[in-house]
Amino acid sequence: MKVNIVDIPVHGLQLNITKNGDELQAIAGEVDFIILSPVSANLSLSKTDGEILMYGNMASIIKQHCARCLKQFEHKISSKIDIVYTIEPECGKKEKELSSEEIRTNDLEGNEIDIDVVLLEQLSLDIPIRAVCKSDCKGLCPKCGADLNQEKCSCPVIEQIDQRFAKLKELKLNKK
Ligand SMILES: [Zn+2]
Ligand SMILES: [Zn+2]
Repeated sequence: MKVNIVDIPVHGLQLNITKNGDELQAIAGEVDFIILSPVSANLSLSKTDGEILMYGNMASIIKQHCARCLKQFEHKISSKIDIVYTIEPECGKKEKELSSEEIRTNDLEGNEIDIDVVLLEQLSLDIPIRAVCKSDCKGLCPKCGADLNQEKCSCPVIEQIDQRFAKLKELKLNKK
């Protein structure tokens, strides 16, 4: 969905959007999360002299892999959107003659704001990088790969020491 800034009336524009997750997924390309439907957003757009202001909120649910046990789990996303697009006053008329550097924009291509891209970018920002399915997720056994949330494997308990600390320990022992 695209909004042409010319179409934003003086009193502003309200958008209530409900999108199919698949559509955004297609734009996202190869990512390690799945966008579930629906993606909803309430946005207000207003136009001032050289700026387009967009604010509102969006909500969605995504599916991603737990960083510890690798299982897929659903994660709720709800975020605020607050973007200012800067436009040169004459960009409407001379848009094609100006280089992209001359038009100070925030991803504003020509006169259009691609709402789908805005939603997707916001979504990507709010997805935690090392998300865990639950705060006390026990993860997988580093030896046999068993899901320690479900079973206790018979691997000997390895001391959870970082290699660097192990080295440090060695050094200390040598000093004795
Ligand atoms: Zn987990
Ligand atoms: Zn094991």
